[in-house]
Amino acid sequence: MIVFYAVFETRAQACSQSLTATVSSPTSRSGSNRQIPLHVSWGSTRRLLLPWLLRLVVEDTAARQCGATAAVWPKFAEFSDSPTAFIFQPEMKLGAHMSTSGGAWKALQRGRQINCEAIQIFVKSNFRWFGSPTPPQKLKLFAAELQSNGFACVFGHTNYLINLAAASSENRDRSIQSLIQEIQFARELHLPFLVMHPGAHLGQGEATGIKQIIAGLDQVFASTAFSRVRIALENTAGQGTCLGHQMSHLCEIFQKVKSPGRLGVCLDTAHLFAAGYDIRTPKGWDIPIREIETSIGIRQIVAFHLNDSKTELGSRVDRHAHIGKGHIGLPGFQIVVNDSRFKNHPACLETPKSEDMHEDIENLKTLRSLQNKPGARSSSSARRRS
Ligand SMILES: [Zn+2]
Ligand SMILES: [Zn+2]
Repeated sequence: MIVFYAVFETRAQACSQSLTATVSSPTSRSGSNRQIPLHVSWGSTRRLLLPWLLRLVVEDTAARQCGATAAVWPKFAEFSDSPTAFIFQPEMKLGAHMSTSGGAWKALQRGRQINCEAIQIFVKSNFRWFGSPTPPQKLKLFAAELQSNGFACVFGHTNYLINLAAASSENRDRSIQSLIQEIQFARELHLPFLVMHPGAHLGQGEATGIKQIIAGLDQVFASTAFSRVRIALENTAGQGTCLGHQMSHLCEIFQKVKSPGRLGVCLDTAHLFAAGYDIRTPKGWDIPIREIETSIGIRQIVAFHLNDSKTELGSRVDRHAHIGKGHIGLPGFQIVVNDSRFKNHPACLETPKSEDMHEDIENLKTLRSLQNKPGARSSSSARRRS
């Protein structure tokens, strides 16, 4: 096993100190242990440490003091050469969906302005089937922003027209072609995954809808075998005939798709609540997580959407509220942002906002005030006591 020692300069490091890390490569041969001191900047980590980085153990005492731990983004490192795959802080990475108005790189500038650690973007207009590829010059601008700002994770969300649960129709064909194009765009932007709503069965029934989603994903993955961009299935509120409001829907898709390595899960707090999961208590929050853990594995959860819910528990109506201003409330979010199983996971707001983004600033401030609050229970100790 080859072991590299590296010092990573992380701009947003919680304890504002460099980390010394041990990186173990699973592709190296046993019996050839070596320790190589590396002093690398954020920008060069990608070139030097990919694509075999699978496990990262923080060894620095200072890092330990601030609670930094290991095993960050093993799946992303496997499937993506994205520089967004590396993160070193011990807390959930908070951010928001950012507008790409004026160009995708502008979304990163906006995110930086309001101290986002994670950012979600649309890779093209979210109400159009198809778009034009980003010109190389603009891709360079995006890559430069991505590298210089050290975001923990920048990922995408597919457009709202795609419905892989639809029966054979022009809309189904378009959905498949549109998703293929968005995967290409995401790849060009070095995004590790695209969040996607599973789809609506439109009266065909849940079982048929899920079958169609699986067939659609198989087709899309076969056509984009060149890419490592994953599709993170998002849980839904279950409005109308939308699938994905039960964890079993997501798990079944995972279990039956031909390339499960191309999938992930993104959990939306407002959708969980509207779908009937009472996440206001540690025990309630644990239910959907355990459902995923026992059927497809907790490592499949790659991101969160942090939204409060304007609608009541089990309403099956999707309306996002500002953090602490909806029916989930602050105690619910305190459980989510301090869940030790999801340290380092990106979590983005999708709450209403105006151009100056003051609502995002306020919501991020609220969430950060809940993170590692003195006296806050870790999810595991909370689980033991509940
Ligand atoms: Zn969504
Ligand atoms: Zn929603």
